[in-house]
Amino acid sequence: PSAAPMGLTRARAAHPTRLDHGPHKLAWAFPLRISSRTLPVMPVELGELIAEVKRVVWGIYRGARLPPSHDFSHVLRVVELASEIAEGEGLNERERGLVVLAALLHDVGIALRGSKEGHAAASAEYAKKLLISRLNDREVELVVTAVREHSWERATPPSSIISAVLQDADRLDALGAIGLARVFAYSGYVGRPLYYLEAPFPEDRELRGGDFAIDHIYEKLLRIPERLNTRTAKALAEERVAFIHAFLKELRREIRAMKTGF
Ligand code: FE
Repeated sequence: PSAAPMGLTRARAAHPTRLDHGPHKLAWAFPLRISSRTLPVMPVELGELIAEVKRVVWGIYRGARLPPSHDFSHVLRVVELASEIAEGEGLNERERGLVVLAALLHDVGIALRGSKEGHAAASAEYAKKLLISRLNDREVELVVTAVREHSWERATPPSSIISAVLQDADRLDALGAIGLARVFAYSGYVGRPLYYLEAPFPEDRELRGGDFAIDHIYEKLLRIPERLNTRTAKALAEERVAFIHAFLKELRREIRAMKTGF
């Protein structure tokens, strides 16, 4: 383990902060100061490594220009949700530590490359470089594999409980009020309209989640519960899904009330 801090330093130096200027910098002034509060479960054994990985990951995110849906706040929420699920599923302290590491690193590929395309593999590759020699081989493999398997698009069945918890945590952050906020933030970022003017709600037509925000809610968000792995996450999802249904109901009412049809 003695060579490891070097590894972290090198990894950090290899990705100097880009774009460390501009209006987004202000938004980060606050999160920087609450670092000690944002990890609810801090397994003692892995505490130092977790704190170190968190600093490295933050260093990468603060220099990246990302949509608000995938910024460092998403990482922190996934860490917190993953900790909660891990605890609910009865994972031991060491396993909970591995879950936190996987959560911290799961989307780092997006921050490194500025693209979601193939990010799970990129994140896994980075996680491996960062963690090798800091954990035993089996644990490195557990974390790296969990990161590689977390992608929604690839729909890979989790090969371990660490992987199952990470998938669930990432998916829970796509539900509820925060999930909706993220859909609209991402839609704005990529220029995706809120809805299809001729038929705002996808009832008797094909879903086009890539083209319209409302369609994406039906295509992805409302299908998340059936793809959750753990009982703890399924329980946590219920209220969040109910909130999405309530939101859609009100949205439908407001849009239907419009006199200006297309
Ligand atoms: Fe994610």
